[in-house]
Amino acid sequence: MTAPFLPYGRQAIDDDDIAAVAAVLRSDALTTGPEVDRFEQALAQVTSAAHAVSCNSGTGALHLAVAGLGIGEGDKVIVPSLTFLASANCARYVGAEVIFADVDPNTGLMGATHLEAALDRAPRGSVKAVIPVHLNGQCCDLSPIAELADRHHIAIVEDACHALGGLMPDGTKVGSCTTSIAACFSFHPVKTVATGEGGAVTTNDSKLDAAMRTLRSHGMVRQPSTPASPEFAFGPDGQANPWYYEMPELGLNYRLSDIHAALGRSQLRKLDTFVARRAALVARYDALLAKLSNRIRPVGRVGGRPAWHLYVVQIDFAALDKDRGNIMRALSERGIGTQVHYLPVHLQPYYQRRYGRLNLPGAEAYYARCLSLPLFPTMNDSDVDRVVNALTEVIGS
Ligand SMILES: *Cc1c(COP(=O)(O)O)cnc(C)c1O
Repeated sequence: MTAPFLPYGRQAIDDDDIAAVAAVLRSDALTTGPEVDRFEQALAQVTSAAHAVSCNSGTGALHLAVAGLGIGEGDKVIVPSLTFLASANCARYVGAEVIFADVDPNTGLMGATHLEAALDRAPRGSVKAVIPVHLNGQCCDLSPIAELADRHHIAIVEDACHALGGLMPDGTKVGSCTTSIAACFSFHPVKTVATGEGGAVTTNDSKLDAAMRTLRSHGMVRQPSTPASPEFAFGPDGQANPWYYEMPELGLNYRLSDIHAALGRSQLRKLDTFVARRAALVARYDALLAKLSNRIRPVGRVGGRPAWHLYVVQIDFAALDKDRGNIMRALSERGIGTQVHYLPVHLQPYYQRRYGRLNLPGAEAYYARCLSLPLFPTMNDSDVDRVVNALTEVIGS
């Protein structure tokens, strides 16, 4: 019998998750129902944030946060280049321009020095937000970033899509927004908690919370306290018309359905177990890899307690005279899925056309060496052994 294929990441669904979804399917509300509120309350509790706004995806979450802050044309948003496309695209959705920041070549994380260098490349006063990305589940050190951001009146929106369930270097929970205005999450199946497609923003700012709730549902406001159109809002006897709603701003339909929300709430109950299992697998990888060539090393480690999303090794392909594509294909033949996270976003054709060929050596050096190995909570210890053995085989010890 051949061993099952190990993808680089996948969801962990059990019978409780299936029962939670089935219960919604038997209920009256498939969307805009009670499960959405329950999921948001559970997420706010898990992250210790005052508010959690659910939405259709992590991409939607980033868009809602940036739009909810009123960022738009003429504004600039600083985004590290070593991330998924969506971290940068959210700025473009609202008409703002992206300033790409470099990252540490060993951790892939943006630090205050990278932010400062990016600020130097932007016209004074034009930068309205910075989006630190907690890559792989390790968190950016936000204290020095916040100090800079405060001085320049820049909002911090965390892209925490990799990091739900982790602790920041200062010990606070990811998503608690103690040093940011908002944190964005994704519930794509490879992320720690899965809803299929899904996302959320946490914040302690009630104005931003309200703005994002309106934006995610067409910009509609029902029964406003002071209607813009009293002639439509009230009947001849002065009573409020029950059908009346108004649209003060353009919005979207970015709602999460009750089906997804129920799955999310059921998954959240297992967050601690998921995070612990991922940490145990990471420890096993680390121990086995320590015995191999120093040309294969786990990504650099920072403080805090990461909720590992990816297990990334850095391989000096050039020094080993190996081609990454060939290594990936050889691993795939041995039933092991790998991936490269990420091709730096500043190198995408859309952004090169817009901003030219930027030189961000940290991001490019990280990219040149990274390879994501399988990591998901239903993996066995023996799966880790299998991956490391196969890696040894195809690279040569
Ligand atoms: C997954 C991810 C997103 C986008 O989330 P989706 O739910 O896939 O839209 C954004 N940023 C990062 C860093 C991600 O990993």
